[in-house]
Amino acid sequence: MLEINQYFCVNESCIHYGVRGQGNIIKSGTYGKFDRQLLQCKTCKKRFSETRNTAFFGSKYSANTIKMIIRLVAEGNGVRATARFLELDYSVVHKVRKNNRVVRIE
Ligand SMILES: [Zn+2]
Repeated sequence: MLEINQYFCVNESCIHYGVRGQGNIIKSGTYGKFDRQLLQCKTCKKRFSETRNTAFFGSKYSANTIKMIIRLVAEGNGVRATARFLELDYSVVHKVRKNNRVVRIE
């Protein structure tokens, strides 16, 4: 998880939408098999996953598996080769690659 001030409200009608460091984001429990963090905007009360808009969102695979997929593809391995190496279905690697737009690997 990033520092809490690195997250921003995802509600487009909120005055703090897309603005970091306003002190409006708080932790609001966890969910799912991997205890992913839920966050809440104190301004508009909207709750959302810390993984929203990332390759991790909605995945049934661990963060380590997702990171490994991203690293292998970033190193120039093809989607099918990555799937064979990690013994995953091609569609899993394809989905992660497609959704990997804003993810950070720590
Ligand atoms: Zn908000």
